[in-house]
Amino acid sequence: MKTPSPFECSMCYLKNATDLIGIDEDIYNILCHPKRIIEVNFPVQMDNGRIRLFKGFRVQHNDSRGPTKGGIRFFPKVDLDEVKALASWMTWKCTVVGIPYGGAKGGVVVNTKNLSEEELERISRAYIRSIRHYIGPHRDIPAPDMYTNSKIMGWMMDEYSALKGEYTPGVITGKPIEIGGSKGRSYATAMGGFIILEKAVKKMGLKPKKTCVAVQGFGNVGFNMARILHEHGYKVVAVSDSKGGIFSKQGLVPAKVFEYKKKTGSVIGFKGTKSVTNKELLALDVDILVPAAMENQILAENAGKIKAKLVVELANGPTTPKASAALFKKKVFVVPDILANAGGVTVSYFEWVQNHSNFYWSEKEVNEKLKQKMEAAFDEVYSIMKAYKSDMRTAAYILAVKRVSEAIQSRSEY
Ligand code: NAD
Repeated sequence: MKTPSPFECSMCYLKNATDLIGIDEDIYNILCHPKRIIEVNFPVQMDNGRIRLFKGFRVQHNDSRGPTKGGIRFFPKVDLDEVKALASWMTWKCTVVGIPYGGAKGGVVVNTKNLSEEELERISRAYIRSIRHYIGPHRDIPAPDMYTNSKIMGWMMDEYSALKGEYTPGVITGKPIEIGGSKGRSYATAMGGFIILEKAVKKMGLKPKKTCVAVQGFGNVGFNMARILHEHGYKVVAVSDSKGGIFSKQGLVPAKVFEYKKKTGSVIGFKGTKSVTNKELLALDVDILVPAAMENQILAENAGKIKAKLVVELANGPTTPKASAALFKKKVFVVPDILANAGGVTVSYFEWVQNHSNFYWSEKEVNEKLKQKMEAAFDEVYSIMKAYKSDMRTAAYILAVKRVSEAIQSRSEY
């Protein structure tokens, strides 16, 4: 069975929702097409003197509700289909949590593991130079995603500011605190996901202290989620990275696993654990599963093996439509990516607001505002799910599609 591409998945989810609510054909057509696709090929001098050509993308899906927003991914397998899907998910995500942005995403085809720090900086700056005419604090605002981080966001903001001839912190979010970053942004995606997970846990009557969790992915999102869960008494029994995973029936201390990964390059081999593959991790006998790595992990062929009662999608697009339908049939409660991982972009929005007002908030303030946004979004999606007797994903799309359609109609030719 052919696995659908990420963009095919995103279009299928959109269709499922619009079939239920019935929307204008012209609006549907607009939602199916990214507003702008930018493909760039930019040369960068490497440490050995070679001038290598790199390919990058920036896709702006829809800007009817405000400037577009979305992360930049550095990954060898980045392609246009993936970036288009990620850009459309950003439109729905920003809309579900009610922040005034459209959706975009960027990507560079590169393996960061093979670069020196200097090469990484030159690539980051060159990519920004090549897309500079299409981004801006009121146009399109990038942020970090897989294999990019706050340091890279700092270089990118600096490059854009140099080109503009003025300090422009609002062009990018996820920056280091000292140059306009927001407190709480570094772990916001996980914190938002945790707030959502707790809402779902309450609805399902699960008891945190007796709840076992498996987390796939141990980067910014996966590690912070595992850490926060552990701090709140959940038992994190498995985590993984690109090389594979580890399992411990007694539970892991994520901070210790993080230290180990920093030294060895992987979670594999951590003392007292059993090795599992990423596929095996998904099928473990746990209460909660948190995919926090890549797209297309829960597929039609392995959805039947999922034993978790609750799946909280912190990765973008980890579940294909057929798998999603199979989980719904099995009564697995799935909180979709466009709701579960919206904490990152929400605190990015807070960062942008702080940059514009030049007035910075405490970590407590950021986290309180994040909690309000995430809980309100969960409640809205949950009540739509009940009204339509759908799953949470379809409900989240319904909420987003209705809001974006209204914005398009209010603006017409924007
Ligand atoms: P990251 O680069 O910090 O970490 C990625 C992790 O995934 C690493 O641990 C890596 O080893 C692991 N990984 C890579 N390929 C894998 C594979 N095939 N199987 C299992 N693990 C694999 O990235 P991140 O920022 O933590 O992003 C993780 C996911 O969360 C992505 O889907 C991203 O789009 C999504 N997301 C991130 C943010 C954010 O703020 N960073 C916000 C929303 C959604």
